[in-house]
Amino acid sequence: MRQPDTHPLATGMPAEVTVYEVGPRDGLQNEPTVIPADVKAEFISRLVDAGLPIVEITSFVHPRWVPQLADASELIDLLDQAGLRGRVPMPVLVPNERGLDRAIEKGVEHIAVFGSATEAFAQRNLNRSLDGQFEMFAPTVDRALSSGMAVRAYLSMCFGDPWEGDVPVEQVVSIGKRLYELGAYQLSLGDTIGVATPGHVVELVEAFAAAGVPREAIALHVHDTYGQALANALAALQAGITTLDSSAGGLGGCPYAKSATGNLATEDLVWMLHGVGIRTGIDLDSLVATSTWLAGILGRPSTSNVVRALARGNDPDGHPPPLTEGQPPR
Ligand code: MG
Repeated sequence: MRQPDTHPLATGMPAEVTVYEVGPRDGLQNEPTVIPADVKAEFISRLVDAGLPIVEITSFVHPRWVPQLADASELIDLLDQAGLRGRVPMPVLVPNERGLDRAIEKGVEHIAVFGSATEAFAQRNLNRSLDGQFEMFAPTVDRALSSGMAVRAYLSMCFGDPWEGDVPVEQVVSIGKRLYELGAYQLSLGDTIGVATPGHVVELVEAFAAAGVPREAIALHVHDTYGQALANALAALQAGITTLDSSAGGLGGCPYAKSATGNLATEDLVWMLHGVGIRTGIDLDSLVATSTWLAGILGRPSTSNVVRALARGNDPDGHPPPLTEGQPPR
């Protein structure tokens, strides 16, 4: 299968990047099709085999809100039976203390909490005010840390909010810093509606760094809703970010799903990273094969450009067929 030719960018790029895989959780929770726990376990197994260094596997959010992930405990049991847990870190999203209880019961070592940078989304998604969300997170993170867990913090609506519109950078930094300082090792800045552009990404990273949140502790979680995901990822790299979130096969970006948010596809990200000479440890062939397999189970093509380009199979290198006479140029 075809790989990108390597042409490094001149300066300022990291030699290595951590691709934080969110497909089994963020991807599948936004797919209309609910797939069985044993297929999820195989998906995770294949992602680990493909070299993904960290895979967020599921969520302990109430099954009423996310029926796609109602089998979280069963999935963890299956991963244990297969000897998969511990091969790479496998964070689980935990919304509150009840979710944390379930995580502790299952011996989860790594959790993620999910905060909002805006009042409107805090009210709608968390049923809390912008300030009030911390009353929920503080005891959750405290107990997780004292149980020896690593805690990642997501912050959503960092670049725009469907109800509030623009979100001031100072507000995002103020809320994000509070969340980080609860004791998270990493803060993942979410472009939840995909409206960010590269200058905005750099501005926000610089503002966090100036406020004392180190670049090494910041990750970027972009969505391709407006076609900006890879441009924003590249801007983040140039601003010193070395962890990027993405979803295998672009899962969660299904055009038929009401809540489709267009996660950046891991294959598209890896193609770019390898193309500019950045190491990821990921085997693109295995990853594409995994997403092609899962697309078959979901009954629709992958939304990843790289998966679709390589799956076209017009020639062994994945190039499109040559133009024939009289055919307009593509
Ligand atoms: Mg997402």
